[in-house]
Amino acid sequence: MSGNLLVLTGAGISADSGVQTFRDANGLWENHRIEEVASLEAFRSCPDLVHNFYNVRRRQLKDSNIKPNAAHLALSELEAAWPGNFHLISQNVDDLHWQAGSKKVLNMHGQLNQVLCEACNQSMFWSNDLSVTSVCKFCGHVGMLRPDIVWFGESPHFLGLIEDLVRAADIFIAVGTSGVVYPAAGFVHLASQALKIEVNLAPTEKSKYFDEVLRGSSTEVLPSLVDRLLNPVTLR
Ligand SMILES: [Zn+2]
Repeated sequence: MSGNLLVLTGAGISADSGVQTFRDANGLWENHRIEEVASLEAFRSCPDLVHNFYNVRRRQLKDSNIKPNAAHLALSELEAAWPGNFHLISQNVDDLHWQAGSKKVLNMHGQLNQVLCEACNQSMFWSNDLSVTSVCKFCGHVGMLRPDIVWFGESPHFLGLIEDLVRAADIFIAVGTSGVVYPAAGFVHLASQALKIEVNLAPTEKSKYFDEVLRGSSTEVLPSLVDRLLNPVTLR
């Protein structure tokens, strides 16, 4: 097999690494609705609260127990061995694909360990806590840094490029994504020329639009799928 291979990942692939989702059992974070902390309006009115929300998550990335799992590693292996074009689009804001060695990753919802300066518009690596007194490494402005996270109401990063990649895909694989968060949920329709494969624990609203649906956790399913893609002689 060859051609343009495009993989879309969502929270399901990181869940097996122990990354907490943004919502606890009540759909709340410390009694705040997620919309109250993941928006520009929230950041303007309560910057300390919003910084704290993301600081907690950024610290999680340093937890030595949180490592790339078999699914992240399988995708890194696939990228290295795939004879055609390969791109990985992730809706996740953790760094596990990068840690696994993936190179062509587009984090469409931003990254926890990147921050954006509202003064000079520069995005930069940031591994520590962020606060209203943090200083931009590029322009020196104080208190102008925000998490480089795509908040509610904001446009995803790289969206034009991503849509071009989806349209051009020969194989489109969606992994651990709920199929309800747009625009990613619409990619299955945009990938009209592609062989479409869904990997997810549970059926999604979009399952019926895929050519092949593989049920199970991404760590269970992806290694054998990658093996099948790289060694089509074992096609079952
Ligand atoms: Zn700056």
